[in-house]
Amino acid sequence: MFLIFGIRGKDKIVGSRLGRCEVCGATAAQTLVRRTTKFSLFFVPLFPVRAARHFVICTNCGRSRAAAREELVAA
Ligand SMILES: [Zn+2]
Repeated sequence: MFLIFGIRGKDKIVGSRLGRCEVCGATAAQTLVRRTTKFSLFFVPLFPVRAARHFVICTNCGRSRAAAREELVAA
């Protein structure tokens, strides 16, 4: 008998708004992404192994940064 298990991250787009990117300086759509990491057994995600994290991704340059708390409320 053998077990197939692992840890898998999944991204979900929470929202998007127009804003100025801190990396490239352009005004473009900033996408808010929620990333959850779950333990999976036989490719079935079972339970989260860490708290969900939020990122803001710039649609102009594609760089991501951690989202500030006030950005989560606004989304
Ligand atoms: Zn950018």
